[in-house]
Formats: sequence, structure tokens, C-alpha cells
Amino acid sequence: MPNPAPKILIAGELNVDLILRNYQSFPALGREVLVEDAVLTLGSASALCASGLARLGNAVAFVGKVGVDSWGELCKQSLQGFGVDTSRIISDSALKTGITVSITSTRDRAFITFLGSIAALSAEDVLESGFQGFDHLHISSFFLQHHLRPGVRRLFAAAHSHGLTTSLDPGCDPQGTWGPDLTEVLLEVDVFLPNEIELAGITGCSQSEEALRKLANRRTLTVAKLGSQGCAALEGDRFVAIPAFPVKPLDTTGAGDSFNAGFLHAWLRGKPLRVAMEFAAACGALSTLVSGGSAGQATEQEAERFMAEKGQR
Ligand code: ADP
Repeated sequence: MPNPAPKILIAGELNVDLILRNYQSFPALGREVLVEDAVLTLGSASALCASGLARLGNAVAFVGKVGVDSWGELCKQSLQGFGVDTSRIISDSALKTGITVSITSTRDRAFITFLGSIAALSAEDVLESGFQGFDHLHISSFFLQHHLRPGVRRLFAAAHSHGLTTSLDPGCDPQGTWGPDLTEVLLEVDVFLPNEIELAGITGCSQSEEALRKLANRRTLTVAKLGSQGCAALEGDRFVAIPAFPVKPLDTTGAGDSFNAGFLHAWLRGKPLRVAMEFAAACGALSTLVSGGSAGQATEQEAERFMAEKGQR
């Protein structure tokens, strides 16, 4: 993929993840349980998409908000470590940086989130940071970014008028209401990247092909992430399904964000839909082989080597 690296702006939420690994029994009210390990690390779907894109060799800048606290510093320093430009991140002393506590066992996980700075970014903050020099604007976690959400359509329209392309990963809606505003937003979205649960929640259709057809609006290319079943999209009117690469996953945290990074990397270089989906599936699969959301994110060479090893499909 020899084209020059596109410049990508990510407008997103920032938080840390506190991962409490391998609980003895799930905590009950008034009881204390022990876990095997505790890790405090960079969280957030937007940040993992940013790190994935940077690892693939793209120029990535992040606009977001953190509190003036050690968790905010951890977020900024981690992104800088991946080579992401953090000069547009606003540190606001009126905010606390958000946190997700993830309580895990080998069988299951439970999450508790304090939104804090996650919900604080507004469309005005992003517009003030400017679009000059960028080729693409990406947003993740539509339903968690409470202040940004009402301005997302306007923001994407502004990005289009400055010549940028746009993409959106809705993320899960903790309220489960999924909101009709998203349909309007999609009129300004070039690439939409929901997972299976989100696609079903948004459309009310459990079949991915039916759901994709329901979302068709003549502008948006929707690529549905279907976990170990792979991914699917509509190419014109034709349903395209790409199987997942056969791997033994260790930790699927961030697989969708790594998939997004892979898809956008290929799509922004003009690759055909199926090629971009294969490349994204390779990035998603590789990320499941290593524990944590960013540690297994692939370089372009690693993804291509993995695809070559797995052979023609
Ligand atoms: P999300 O993390 O957003 O829920 P998915 O779980 O659908 O997203 O994962 C994104 C992509 O990563 C999938 O479309 C697939 O290509 C790849 N992937 C995820 N889980 C597996 C798996 N168990 N085996 C192989 N590939 C996987």
C-alpha cells in the first residue's frame, strides 16, 4: 500500500480501564472477593482505534477531554507512546477523567463505568480544533458521548464541506434505546462500523443482511462486525460476507477497534471493499491473540504476513 499516509482526526472519549483479572467468585453485596491481577491501562474505543491506525502507519491526531489528574496523564502519555498527536486534547480542571472497571474471569466479564470526561467533549470543541490538513474524521462511542451526540451530524457535515471523509462506530447504548437521531447522522457518514449487537439494536433486525438493507441510504457503507463469524457489508445491492480468520482468541477486548483501524487504513487507500474487509478481519483476529486492547494491534506488514500465512480464502 504505497500511497502517502492519510491524516486522520479522531474525536472521542478518553478513559482509563481498571482490569481486575480472574475473580474467585463474583462479588456480592457486603462481601469481599480477591482477584489474581489488577492492571490500570488506557481504555476507550476511540483511543484503541487511534492506536490501531497509528500502528498501521497513519498520521493520527486525537481531540478529546480529560481531567487534570493522573488518569488523564496516563491517557495522553499512552497515546503519545503510539505516536498519536495529543496536542488537541483538552485538560479541564472541572472534570474527572472517566474510568471503566472491568471484572473478568476466563468465562465472563462485567463492566462498571464512571463517565466523567467521556461525556464532556462537544462539537464546538472539535470545530475549534479545526480540520485543516486532515483527510478523514472518525468518531466512536456515539451513545456514550452525551455532549457530542447532538452535534455529530453537524460536525460530519462540516468535515465533508472541508473535503474530509467520515466514519462512525456507534458502540453500545447502555440504555438500550438506540435513538432515532442516528438515522439522521448516517446521512453524513461514509463508513459505519457497528458490531452484531449494535446492528440488531439499531435496526430491530436479527439477520445481518436484512439489517444492512434496512440501513441503506445511498451514502453510507455499513460494515457489520460479526465476531467469530467475520464481517458483512452490501456492495451495491450484493450481500458480501467475509469469514473470520480461524484463530484461538486469548482476549477479544478491542477486536472491533482494531478491525475499524484496519478497515479505514485500507479504505482510505482506495482498496476494493472485499480487500479492505479481509485486511480488517486480519487486524481484528490478530488483536485477539494478545491480552489487552492495544498490545496485539498489527503493523501493515504483520497483517499482510498473517493473511499470506492463512492463504487464499
Ligand atoms: P466488537 O469488538 O466491536 O464487538 P467483534 O467482536 O465483532 O467486534 O470483532 C471485530 C472483528 O474482529 C470481527 O469482525 C472479526 O473479523 C475479528 N474477530 C473477533 N473475534 C474473533 C474470533 N474469535 N476469531 C477470529 N476473528 C475474530
